Parts: sequence; structure tokens; C-alpha cells
Amino acid sequence: MLKKQILKSKKNCLIANKNLVKKNLSIQTFGNVSQRIDKNHFIIKPSGINLNTIKHRDFNVINISSGKVVDGSLNPSSDTETHRVLYRQWDTIKGIAHGHPTYGTSWAQTGKPIPVLGTTHADYFDKHVPITNRMKKKDVKNKYEYNTGLEILKTFKKQKLKPNKCPGILIRYHGVFAWGKSSYESVKNLELIEFIGLLAFNSMKIGLKDKIDTNLIRKHFDRKHGANFYYGQKK
Ligand SMILES: [Zn+2]
Repeated sequence: MLKKQILKSKKNCLIANKNLVKKNLSIQTFGNVSQRIDKNHFIIKPSGINLNTIKHRDFNVINISSGKVVDGSLNPSSDTETHRVLYRQWDTIKGIAHGHPTYGTSWAQTGKPIPVLGTTHADYFDKHVPITNRMKKKDVKNKYEYNTGLEILKTFKKQKLKPNKCPGILIRYHGVFAWGKSSYESVKNLELIEFIGLLAFNSMKIGLKDKIDTNLIRKHFDRKHGANFYYGQKK
């Protein structure tokens, strides 16, 4: 990729990181957004920096196979290894966002997935928003962030989920990871999970009378994401 294009991607990645804070999906310096630039590289925010003063050119470029920083002198985000594991496994994803938003994180802390209770959820997820398992002590002690990525992949494999049909996951006791076709879209998907989490929380608080029909879930998901989608404009 040309230097000019990398700088443009870094700029977009900085904007996406600012959006995460603007949309109240992360407070202070928690949270991070990354963006893939080619098959083997991605851009990520440096660790613990002030988004208002950092220059986009200071963002790090990471080699996906080795995990090495190939551009940028600051330390990359502490969650870089989780992002790397996901990019390495899923070559269709181009952006990843992580944050600790109120409702998504509250669900993550309960240890429960977010159930499909209505069509707003089904517009984006055809199943529950999944949650990772409890991590083993040794996986927390060593290579914690890398192992967090592996936990996400394990959950997807076990539940036969696909990243393009399920654009995010709750990390048990921690927060939320979401992804998409760009860093911009990954933040949008994180925002959606937060909204779905809020709706589910309120619905359960009011009290559920009965369950949504599975054909209604299918209808809403497929009209947006199915082979014969008809929501919005042609992709
Ligand atoms: Zn976190």
C-alpha cells in the first residue's frame, strides 16, 4: 500500500477512535479501534494516548503474522494482540472496535448472551449476541490479550457462528468487541450491540409476555443481509 493511502487509513482510524468516545461507547482511554490496510497489516491506536492531541501519523502499523510493530514509535494499544488474532483468522473483516459501553458491559458481567427479543436485534444478528467463556487461569496469566482473541474464535467455532452474520461478541466480565467492513462500520456495530443490550435490559425489566417467532427473526435478518436482501440500496 502506498504511504499516502496508509496515512489516509490512519486518519480514518483516528476518526473512528474519536467516534467511539463521542458515542459514549468508551470512557477515558479504555477502548480501541483498528483498521486493516492489507492482508497482513492493520493500523491501531497507540496505548493510553489523548485522542485530542495525538496525530494520526503516530498510529501504529502491525504485521498480522508476526505481531511486530512495523510503523510508529509509540506502544500500540494493550489489546493489539486480540485484534491481531481476529484479523489473522477472518480475512473478510476490515475494522475492529472494542469498548466498555454501559449495557454491553453490564450483560458481559452477568455472563449471559443478549437474547433475540425483537426485530431491532434481528436486523443485525440472526441469533443471540454471544459471550465468551470464562478464561482459564493460565490463559489470563500469560498472553492474556492473545488468549482473549482465541476465546472469541473458540466461541464462534463452538456455536457455529460466522463473523459476517454476527458482527460482535461480549467478552465475559470485560466488555464488547465488534467488527465490520471498515473501522467506521465496526464502531457502528458496537453502538448497535449497546442499543440492543439496552432494549433487552428494558424488555426484561418490564417483563416478557412471550417470545418473538423465529420466522420474524429470519425475515428481518434476511431482508437486510440475505441473498435476496431488499432493505436499503444495492451494495
Ligand atoms: Zn477492554
